[in-house]
Amino acid sequence: MLNIHPVHAFKDNYIWVVHNQNYAVAIDPGITAPVIEYLQLNKLQLCAILITHHHNDHTGGIAGLIQRFDIPVYGPNNELITAITNPVQQNDIVNLPDISLNLTVLDTPGHTRGHIAYYGPDPWDMLFCGDTLFSCGCGRIFEGSAAQLYQSLQKISQLPDATLIYCAHEYTLGNIAFAKAVDPENKKLNEFAITAQESHHKNMPTIPTTLALEKAINPFLRCEHQSIINSAQNYSKQQLQNPVDVFAVLREWKNKF
Ligand SMILES: [Zn+2]
Repeated sequence: MLNIHPVHAFKDNYIWVVHNQNYAVAIDPGITAPVIEYLQLNKLQLCAILITHHHNDHTGGIAGLIQRFDIPVYGPNNELITAITNPVQQNDIVNLPDISLNLTVLDTPGHTRGHIAYYGPDPWDMLFCGDTLFSCGCGRIFEGSAAQLYQSLQKISQLPDATLIYCAHEYTLGNIAFAKAVDPENKKLNEFAITAQESHHKNMPTIPTTLALEKAINPFLRCEHQSIINSAQNYSKQQLQNPVDVFAVLREWKNKF
């Protein structure tokens, strides 16, 4: 039986630990201690580390973990992360036999130049997407272009609707506030706002989310909808010709929101 557990780190990071009864894989360990604590508590042996991009809040814990475990570190081929032993890129398969899991790599540039995500269809559709897609939002554009991040999100949106999205931050409530400003008449969004607020009060993660839900509520996945186009045009006071332009305006707007 596979378990996917969010180890909380820093203010709002999730380090996803995927494990069976004996072995575990850590995704984006920004810090060592809470991962070790979870492994010890559950008597787990770490068998691999997966990295989505080079930011320190996703990589800062690698050194401490590989001191204790002699294990492969998978990560983006196009970024300089010295601890990576197995650089991977689009369509590479990451075999994790100890937890009977195979993940396929997707190149998802935009937040950073070489950002990647890991997708597995079995035992259920799951995506570990780092800082590319968040619930009701998306990552900031630090190194790539709006067109790149838009294309990366389009690539993700081609996955099965039931895909569980394991992103690396709990940004949901802030993202909802912005989404409501962009898409105030969206009934599903307003319903989700209530559910997310309840989770927050119970101290429960709002993650994982599903691709189906995100397609219904996330303005960054809805740049072709008339209501979103209208809002982006009102905000930017210009005619927007295509979804990438709408996306770029939304991302700018969110930065200032
Ligand atoms: Zn980042």
